[in-house]
Amino acid sequence: MRRNGITALGLLLASTVAISPALAVDLAVSSIEVTQGFQNGSTGLTAERATMIRVKVAVTGSGAGVPGVDAVLRMVVDGVDWPAGPYFSANGPITAPLAPNSASLNHTLNFVVVPPQSSNVVFRVLVNPVGSVAESSTANNLFTSAAYDFKCRAIVDLAYVPINYTYGGMGLPPAAMTKPGSADNFLRGIYAVGEWNYHRSPMGNLTFSSNVNSNASGLLVALLDLQNSIIPDAGYAKPEFIYGFLPGNPYSGNGLANSTPGSVAFGNTEEVRWQRTFAHELGHLWGRNHNGETIGVPSIDVEHHLKDPLALGPLHASTKNDVMVAGLITSQAWVSSGTYLDAWTDQRSQCTAFAPEGEGDSPQSDAANAGRAMAPANERACLRIAGVFTHEGRGLALVPVTRFDRASPTIDDPAGDLSIETLDAAGGLLHRVRVRTDTMLESCAGGGERLPTACVYALVPAPEPAARVARVVVRDLRAAARPAGAAPAGVAGGAGAER
Ligand SMILES: [Zn+2]
Repeated sequence: MRRNGITALGLLLASTVAISPALAVDLAVSSIEVTQGFQNGSTGLTAERATMIRVKVAVTGSGAGVPGVDAVLRMVVDGVDWPAGPYFSANGPITAPLAPNSASLNHTLNFVVVPPQSSNVVFRVLVNPVGSVAESSTANNLFTSAAYDFKCRAIVDLAYVPINYTYGGMGLPPAAMTKPGSADNFLRGIYAVGEWNYHRSPMGNLTFSSNVNSNASGLLVALLDLQNSIIPDAGYAKPEFIYGFLPGNPYSGNGLANSTPGSVAFGNTEEVRWQRTFAHELGHLWGRNHNGETIGVPSIDVEHHLKDPLALGPLHASTKNDVMVAGLITSQAWVSSGTYLDAWTDQRSQCTAFAPEGEGDSPQSDAANAGRAMAPANERACLRIAGVFTHEGRGLALVPVTRFDRASPTIDDPAGDLSIETLDAAGGLLHRVRVRTDTMLESCAGGGERLPTACVYALVPAPEPAARVARVVVRDLRAAARPAGAAPAGVAGGAGAER
């Protein structure tokens, strides 16, 4: 009986194949998407960065999705077949849907490639390469893309500092949450620099003993000192960015950047949010303010960095928030075009023949904040003048002035609202630099809460050995603009003398 049953089934299958109009099915490539984290059709691409090619298959002659569809991809660089290919899909074979939607990862055949620097990178996709799906025509199976431009971007030096937070006895953050391949997983997915040189500060841990909620500026000044003088003075390269990790999340704002744009920040090690807080504070440092944007298009974490530890999928829905929406946790955010491009166009991510020792911000992306940057390749003995600016009443409390043997003086900011001036014994002006206090006004905790204070930091040239700075004066430039009779500003006034 059993034997007869099998025979009968075999006959039935054979007869079904014989009468089916299978050869009406035709497959072709309808389009490809090329993404490195975010792509809306006009977003620039970075050479030597992991890139996903998502291939949409056009299906005709079938009333349903076609199973068993795969493809092979070749990358042609400057007219030459790239020797690392051909590339096989990461997820094929798939059931090719009649109406592929980028919001579903497996509606497309996905390839991961690492293109070199070239303005002429062409992708050639051959669908159904071994004829495993019976087709009415294979003449249309080869797709050749337009040329893509993969541009050089810099290796960006990002040092991290474990903060030994002795206030309340909290101690150090977990090493597993600060190390490369963990803390940096979010920012690697969304900021398309050439490479992140993410490493521990060569100076090791930083002990901070006061309450970070009442002395956040003190922590930022310590990180700025590390970046601008202590690390370079010890013979190491000056990092473009420094980020400090607190144990847990003791700071009410989740994290804080020194300014927008800026160069140092700190944040938490709370598991559901720390990777996004890190990427968020870096967004401020690139020059981005808080916004209310959603990302708008389905986007891909190409190397699937955020698999750990939260098990997030590689595809981020178009309804997710930009990383610069304040107060979110990691699973709620990815990157919008504006934030993606701000990092991509920033001067610190550009390739230059001779990268300047200092740093600067992109004229394109940061024009509104021009002048905040440090001077490049201009190192000399400097006085560090820093303090806490209180917005309400416009008061400034300076910390003791410190002399650094090697640092780059802060560039004057014409938009600055404070003028920091050094005077000699006779009252003569030695140096003047203007800084802004209004670039970091809102708490990163969300809800639009205003920060009560801002970190003020300037490096001014130290006088020649024979000379002497008798006084440091900080003047409130807003005060002069006030109508006569208004209350005098609280900032004006001297600070301690320093040689
Ligand atoms: Zn923020």
